[in-house]
Amino acid sequence: MDCIFCKIVNNEIPAKKVYEDEHTVVFHDINPIAPVHLLAIPKKHIASIYDAQPEDKELIGHIHIALQKVADEMGISESGFRIVTNKGEHGQQTVFHLHFHLIGGRQLRWDM
Ligand code: 5GP
Ligand code: ZN
Repeated sequence: MDCIFCKIVNNEIPAKKVYEDEHTVVFHDINPIAPVHLLAIPKKHIASIYDAQPEDKELIGHIHIALQKVADEMGISESGFRIVTNKGEHGQQTVFHLHFHLIGGRQLRWDM
């Protein structure tokens, strides 16, 4: 499958990974919009949050618990952050492998 994030999972294209375990990878967004802008993805290819199935419930939770640790390591737990996932055209999804943006390190506005 020609999926850029699957290629990052498989180390076929480089990424600045900050966290990896059996189920998930977290890496720096190539075009950051804030001092901290990471992407957390399941290793399993899921096209978007809308495509997650009941059997993915634990996986989705696992990613979010991993993100707590990453937020600590990035030093943004106290100041705060935003976790975002985009779906489809109105959501402005551009990569069709589920990813959660972890954004922080500056004051965010609601309309980013
Ligand atoms: P979306 O718009 O789908 O919510 O987010 C896709 C994100 O992936 C964008 O923020 C974009 O900068 C990032 N991105 C796209 N291609 C690559 C890549 O090859 N490497 C990395 N690290 N990030 C990418
Ligand atoms: Zn993929």
